[in-house]
Amino acid sequence: MLISKEISKILHYKKVVVIMSKTYNIAVLKGDGIGPEITEATIKVLEAVQEKTDFKLNFLYGEAGFHCIEEFGTNLPEETIALLKRTDACLKGPMTTPEEAGAPVSGAVKIRKIFNLYANVRPCKSFPSVDSLKPNLDFVVVRENTEGLYSGAEFAAAPGVGIAYRIITTEASTRVAEFAFKLAQTRKKHLTYVHKGNILRITDGIFKEAMKTVAKKYPNVEVDDQHIDATAMHLIKKPEFFDVIVTSNLFGDILSDEAAQVVGGLGLAAGANIGDTYGMFEPVHGSAPKYTGMNRVNPISHIMAAALMLNHLGERGAAAKIEKAVTDVLGEGKVRTMDLGGNSTTSDMADAIAQKIREA
Ligand code: NAD
Repeated sequence: MLISKEISKILHYKKVVVIMSKTYNIAVLKGDGIGPEITEATIKVLEAVQEKTDFKLNFLYGEAGFHCIEEFGTNLPEETIALLKRTDACLKGPMTTPEEAGAPVSGAVKIRKIFNLYANVRPCKSFPSVDSLKPNLDFVVVRENTEGLYSGAEFAAAPGVGIAYRIITTEASTRVAEFAFKLAQTRKKHLTYVHKGNILRITDGIFKEAMKTVAKKYPNVEVDDQHIDATAMHLIKKPEFFDVIVTSNLFGDILSDEAAQVVGGLGLAAGANIGDTYGMFEPVHGSAPKYTGMNRVNPISHIMAAALMLNHLGERGAAAKIEKAVTDVLGEGKVRTMDLGGNSTTSDMADAIAQKIREA
């Protein structure tokens, strides 16, 4: 009896130790342009979160981005891909994509393809004391992330004649539809699928059919069908209409920047790239090269991407701590970066959010 009590004590102790020492390996790609400074800001905030939680984030830094092209001949070296494969999630800074023909394709697009990150999820929510087209907006853009025009599959057919493939499949459309309908079920149960089926009858015909088929499995979700041009207008006129928007890759790329501006701008907009076995989390915006190294841009986009990552890892309490700290700092209105009409620096914003987490 005594022995079994001792054993149970030890097991209990070990269980506590296991819970206390849960570690996530996080690949951190700083990217380029403003990437390194917003990454540094985000790591500061994640360090504050870890002081208040019982898990550990093990940051593994990898090389990727424009600056790698000269050294490695690619923006996503093999060593970095191998590093990503050893981790639980990737926190990715923005990367400059060269526009010349023949240049390496976007690093983000490569990671999405390699890890089959088929759903790009971009939440759009009003923050206190931040200009929003209408108050209390809360909707999400879900973008198919693996095919369509955004894949950049194109060729020159003849001098002055370019052809791009817009491949849309039932398989990829169904997969993203399932994701979006499941998400809508956890929210206001309203989904709008967006396409240009009146013109792109074959490709968007396939997309629409997939949406309608999946919709039958979710009868409690109210469904709307909209053309992309109409959605672009409705987002300005009546953004409160939306809950979950699901669309193809390029339409989603454009709509999510518009949607970000509707609720306060790119400086606040985060995105999650989700697959069945891996997730990559990044700001919606790019590398904003003209602000490189100036310590002026808003790091909240990347800090909120880190919150999405924690949520995905199942650390909802930790994600909520970040969201609350961001909301409180913005609500107080004392620390405001240039995009919010203030003069605070990137590091001021990170320090204020980290401080709020420590005080909570
Ligand atoms: P961008 O998103 O980098 O910047 C557009 C403008 O948005 C900036 O000039 C700035 O005014 C504002 N902005 C962006 N981030 C901000 C922040 N954190 N705080 C405050 N203001 C902010 O768009 P771009 O200039 O079209 O693209 C620059 C480069 O980024 C290009 O090479 C593009 O290919 C690349 N890009 C990469 C990704 C990615 O890595 N996922 C995404 C989009 C663009």
